[in-house]
Amino acid sequence: MDPVWALLIFALGLAFGSFLNVCIYRLPRELSVVRPGSACPSCKHAIAAYDNIPLLSWLILRGHCRHCHVRISPRYLVVELLTGIMFLACYAQFGYSSALVKYCTLGFLLLGLIFTDAETQLLPDKITLPGIVLGLLFSLFVPVDDLISHFLPMLVSLGGTSRWLSVADSLAGAAVGASFIYGVGAIYLRARGVEGMGFGDVKLMALVGAFLGTKLTMFTIFAGSIVGSLAGVGMMLSVWVKRTRRRMARNHEAAGVARRRAWYSATVMLRAFPIPFGVFLGSMAIVAFFFGNQFLRWYWRML
Ligand SMILES: [Zn+2]
Repeated sequence: MDPVWALLIFALGLAFGSFLNVCIYRLPRELSVVRPGSACPSCKHAIAAYDNIPLLSWLILRGHCRHCHVRISPRYLVVELLTGIMFLACYAQFGYSSALVKYCTLGFLLLGLIFTDAETQLLPDKITLPGIVLGLLFSLFVPVDDLISHFLPMLVSLGGTSRWLSVADSLAGAAVGASFIYGVGAIYLRARGVEGMGFGDVKLMALVGAFLGTKLTMFTIFAGSIVGSLAGVGMMLSVWVKRTRRRMARNHEAAGVARRRAWYSATVMLRAFPIPFGVFLGSMAIVAFFFGNQFLRWYWRML
């Protein structure tokens, strides 16, 4: 890894992260990401260029607006840092190549979706739909190298069409990702009686599939569902324990009664609380393009 390139790529990541913060705030609100320039959401004061430097400005102003001193969410700092680290990690993994551009793009889109889903429970079409198209376009330049590319040439010998096999892999990934998550959503709806996955998740998985192909998309869906469910169960248990203690302390209920009633109210709460599956699917898609193939190789050996 060349240190000068590494630093430049990290700085580029910070700048893209800064733009991503604008997208995360504005896209779910249907605002333009180009105009007007950044302003404090509280006092509407325009933010000067010198207060808009990634990372540094937030640290210098200690997360407060220069004019009205209202607190600025640490998300701004976190997203910039994560995008910088993501770009750097892509450089470490893929070197100076067209794959670097592809995976930086995917990481950028996924971070945007993860944070908008976490904040607003929305996965904006303005990110997912262009993302699907980008994934298909990238498959022309960076081989997706998935099932179709592996098995089809054995059936028909095709000379010089590996590029189209890559596009076919990208299309297959998008189709499998979208239809599989649609199926998971339908099962989830039956099991819990609430909508857990929306069309945003379907489009998100089409995007992931277009970039990563079928195998890593399946990995993303399984890993995302497991991690998402564990997070849901963990949250419910912690609410259960907290409410049991509160009932015993405040209402002087017996432990057994308090536990039973708290369990009931925790299940009601979880039912009303939407688990942001886009956050888990998006995070696991990032894990997939860094470690998914290693994991799958290890998994086949275990079988
Ligand atoms: Zn302000």
